[in-house]
Amino acid sequence: MERFKESTIQINNDFEIMDRMLEHEQVIFCSDPSTGLRAIIAIHDTTLGPALGGCRMKLYETFDDALDDALRLSKAMTYKCAASNVDFGGGKAVIIGDPMKDKTPELFRSFGQFIESLGGRFYTGTDMGTTMDDFIHASRETSNIVGIPEEYGGGGDSSYPTSMGVIYGIKATNKILFGTEDIRGVTYAVQGLGKVGFKVAESLLNEGADVYVSDLDSNNILALQEKAKTALGSVKSVESNDIYSQEADIFVPCAAGGVINDETIQQLKVKAVAGSANNQLQADEHGDKLAELGILYAPDYIINFGGLIQVADELYGFNKNRVLRKTKEIYHTLLKVYQLAELNQISTVKAANQMCEQIISDRQKRNSFYTRSMKPKWDIR
Ligand code: NAD
Repeated sequence: MERFKESTIQINNDFEIMDRMLEHEQVIFCSDPSTGLRAIIAIHDTTLGPALGGCRMKLYETFDDALDDALRLSKAMTYKCAASNVDFGGGKAVIIGDPMKDKTPELFRSFGQFIESLGGRFYTGTDMGTTMDDFIHASRETSNIVGIPEEYGGGGDSSYPTSMGVIYGIKATNKILFGTEDIRGVTYAVQGLGKVGFKVAESLLNEGADVYVSDLDSNNILALQEKAKTALGSVKSVESNDIYSQEADIFVPCAAGGVINDETIQQLKVKAVAGSANNQLQADEHGDKLAELGILYAPDYIINFGGLIQVADELYGFNKNRVLRKTKEIYHTLLKVYQLAELNQISTVKAANQMCEQIISDRQKRNSFYTRSMKPKWDIR
């Protein structure tokens, strides 16, 4: 109980956030004084299936910040699940706490019990601040956990399908820009050589492309330069801040979110932006701005849905070949978004959102709330 007396959480009377809560099907506040767990689970929409979304752990400054994150991210998951055709709806969880200090196995087991109490309406796994190990603890209380290691029946690291998906997205982008999906002959500026960006840059090099890269960690750049020695293409590293103004055909952001903003957008000299980073646009209007500048934008939640395909596949009994086959769909989904944007003279962000909203409304005509795992076992109609 002591932890709660010390809590600095503030609840503001903010009706805007209340309105946004009401856009969601269900918002659950979880508290377990015995383990110190304080968490929020937001279930945005289960029209397409039970909600799926990762769980963040962060020392939020205020309770509203935590709630805002959960609401915003769970809505984004609804769109991402619709685009990727995985039969899941959108949800997200946040645990309020310091990932460096506040983690215990008991806290994650307690969180697992809350997940279990939702009777299959919400599946979760790792996100910022949480690891597969955390969810091995949670999975002792509930089977509604995804993204765990292969030895626990999961698919393991999802960065491989995510990076494959980015390559398919780049091919679709090249098809629109140059009439051919060939990777070679096009220049790329890759920001971030982490789990996803490194594999993307390596594939581009292997296909014979010229690649400019930046990363805050010089070891990643050195490792890629080593790979380039035996690849067809060439790699050149640039300073972190210079990646935006690099003369290249495609900017491939694979690091942090918010990198397309008022400041960076004016520096871009590329013809397209197509990378894995989540929430690349600081605000949706930056999607309009890119369109006005004639820069083709691959909406992040479409080009990076390979990782989602993998975690969702765990529920069918994980199969790598099936994941890779479904990940290839990014090529066609992105082409469709580009064509819709062109046809309706709107930004690719608006085209993607409209496409997903149409998928959900078409499904609503067939069913309403998704209740498969909540049906009593004796209901055999
Ligand atoms: P990561 O943490 O492994 O790699 C990020 C890399 O970016 C690191 O090497 C870091 O040094 C570098 N970096 C950070 N800030 C930078 C900057 N300003 N300039 C240059 N480099 C910078 O993360 P990841 O798993 O490779 O994910 C990359 C992005 O893709 C993230 O936005 C993530 O949310 C998104 N994403 C990842 C997956 C996945 O399967 N891992 C799935 C969907 C989306």
